[in-house]
Amino acid sequence: MTAHEIVFHPHVHTVYSDGHGTHAQVLRAALQAGVDVVQFTDHNVRVEGVEGYYTDGTRRVLALMGEEMHDRTAGPAEQGNHLLTFGAQMELAPYAEHPQRLVDATLRAGGLAFLAHPHDPPAPVVGEGAFPWRRWEVRGYHGIELWNAMSEFKARLRSWAHVLFYALQFHRVARGPFPQTLALWDDLTRRGQRVVAIGGSDAHAIPKLGGRVRIFPYAAHFRAINTHVLLPQPLQGQVAADRDAVYAALAAGHAFVANDLLGSARGFRFRAQGAAGTAWMGDTLALDRGVTLQVRLPARARVRLLRDGQEVFARPQAEVFAYPVQQPGVYRVEVYRHAWGRWRGWIFSNPIYIRP
Ligand SMILES: [Zn+2]
Ligand SMILES: [Zn+2]
Repeated sequence: MTAHEIVFHPHVHTVYSDGHGTHAQVLRAALQAGVDVVQFTDHNVRVEGVEGYYTDGTRRVLALMGEEMHDRTAGPAEQGNHLLTFGAQMELAPYAEHPQRLVDATLRAGGLAFLAHPHDPPAPVVGEGAFPWRRWEVRGYHGIELWNAMSEFKARLRSWAHVLFYALQFHRVARGPFPQTLALWDDLTRRGQRVVAIGGSDAHAIPKLGGRVRIFPYAAHFRAINTHVLLPQPLQGQVAADRDAVYAALAAGHAFVANDLLGSARGFRFRAQGAAGTAWMGDTLALDRGVTLQVRLPARARVRLLRDGQEVFARPQAEVFAYPVQQPGVYRVEVYRHAWGRWRGWIFSNPIYIRP
């Protein structure tokens, strides 16, 4: 089966919460940047009547409505627990005070639940607190936001000099998901949980210096960290059907996370081939004689294959490779490129689960 790849941006704020752009401004930026699907995730508010296709004459973008939920009554020590909910088609804010009930209500409504920025550092220089996920006893969510551009930006802000340096050089911010988030993800999947990784900007387009600088414009974010989703057929131009197809693919983990600033990641593929059939990222395949993992990169780059969080194969420069599987485990791929003075994470695949 051929995969039809779309670029999905899952996490954006507008004037309906603490973002500084309207839906129309965000969608214009998405069209400029060439994103196929944008999902709005304002804090504890679902805005009706926005979902749909928008066009600038030559390109189109599908707008979807999610939410980013948290308990507004939580004290300082409980700040965080931001949950991204997709596709529920109802207002979930009444459940926001209780993370487990919120996840359960999201699933009952046919939606998806992802833990937003599970590790989020404070940035005291700019007066920003930490909003990590804290309630690890919660069960039933689909996945985690492995890579969040705003959390990574906050981690860079150790002084005002850093604030200025990175605010003016957006491309230097992104290096990859936090190592502790990668380790956490590997730990969850190694213990048998299916956890889908997504990545996004958490864009707010905050005006600074009297409105003369925007940290950062939406279009800059849409050219950087995205979630690439693989669909069994192209988007049809019909809102409800396309929405269902995008969310079904995300629920299945048919996706990878990429920083498209390092070069478009379109075309990356990771699949497993065995006697039982073909598995895409996110799928499970039984180990038999002759299961092979096949990786194709969009361009030559440094690549690592990991099994249960441990590197089992690496190449300093590769474009394609195949790896014969000897052991069951959770396999995933990381790709790096050298740019702006250091190695930077380019592509992080979702895992393929090879079971005994
Ligand atoms: Zn958040
Ligand atoms: Zn957010």
